[in-house]
Amino acid sequence: MDISYILNELGEDRSQYFNAVAPPIIQTSNFAFRKVDDMGKAFEDEMSGYLYSRGINPTVDILRAKLAALDGAEDALVFNSGAAAIFAAVLANVKSGDHIVSVKQPYTWAQRMFDVILPRFGVTTTYIDGTQVSNFAEAIRPNTSVIYLESPNSWTYAIQDLRAVATMAREKNIVTICDNSYCTPLYQRPVEMGIDISLQSATKYIGGHSDTVAGVISGSKSMMKKIFDSEYLNIGSGIQPFNAWLLIRGLRTLPARLEQSAQTTRKVVDYLKTHPKVETVIFPLDPGFPQYELAKSQMSGASGLLTIIYKAQERKEIVQFCEALKHIMMAVSWGGHESLVIPRCASIKEKDFNPAKKEHRMVRLYIGLESADYLIKDLEQAFLAG
Ligand SMILES: *Cc1c(COP(=O)(O)O)cnc(C)c1O
Repeated sequence: MDISYILNELGEDRSQYFNAVAPPIIQTSNFAFRKVDDMGKAFEDEMSGYLYSRGINPTVDILRAKLAALDGAEDALVFNSGAAAIFAAVLANVKSGDHIVSVKQPYTWAQRMFDVILPRFGVTTTYIDGTQVSNFAEAIRPNTSVIYLESPNSWTYAIQDLRAVATMAREKNIVTICDNSYCTPLYQRPVEMGIDISLQSATKYIGGHSDTVAGVISGSKSMMKKIFDSEYLNIGSGIQPFNAWLLIRGLRTLPARLEQSAQTTRKVVDYLKTHPKVETVIFPLDPGFPQYELAKSQMSGASGLLTIIYKAQERKEIVQFCEALKHIMMAVSWGGHESLVIPRCASIKEKDFNPAKKEHRMVRLYIGLESADYLIKDLEQAFLAG
């Protein structure tokens, strides 16, 4: 399906709402029936129609249709956060006594679920280095029910061979889940590579304006129905109509924003690679990236997120660099209009800082929609302080 069609038309029936170009925000909790049997049908299968907005809502439906099509998936569900999307996708596919194989250092709140919540119900997790497919095969046990992937990771950009892992998991009836927040479906389509559930934090590029928290999962109709009927309705963390509307608005400009950010990022990466205070630039579509060939084979692009290893002996130097930035803001998240920085050492105390550990010297940059010159000037003056 054409991306322009998906973003501008799919799921929208303008004749239903005065031919308005922008869809309405159907801000309602419930929907009325004329016929008892129609109500009965909706009770029987809440996914089949409009009953109550914790389930299905028309504004959210427009968004679901677009997000599923972008992913090349049969259906999608949208949540009130990426963390809720992860929670529902995993919980729906494990039972007491099961085992999960996860890539090491997945997104913080995925790891928190595996380490703190699931063990209370007898579900254990093994973390592996996902860069080698053989590590998955070795970690799988008879009770493994989920393989959890994040490709690329959002700090190191370590990637997994999605096709190979999906094929292996299918043979063993293991459900594969991949966090695709880094690429978005515009640059990587895990479901088309055989992954069962693709998920994203829509807070990042889909929203695109740092004003909405949301998450999305996509996959087969049967998988989405299974999750809808249990976790989605029961946790009650589905997206609200207004936030869904903001995401539809974000989608309209997604290709243009990703492209702009990608172009600027190339220039910033080239600048950083020559800077004496930068030991390494980590960016998955840079030819120097260790998994560059695999990245090119499954990702059609990369936008604004990159990490530098800062050349520093002391934590103070990195602190001074970050605090000297005038335009690039120090904040979590990414994918919005504004460029951002996070130093790893924010969570490392001065006395624990060890410059021999590259990880301690990581500084993550997100390149937003400002001009390259504007950002490079800001970095240049901050390096002088650091
Ligand atoms: C932000 C993020 C999430 C979580 O999404 P929220 O919308 O913040 O709940 C999940 N995975 C990755 C890689 C993220 O960057």
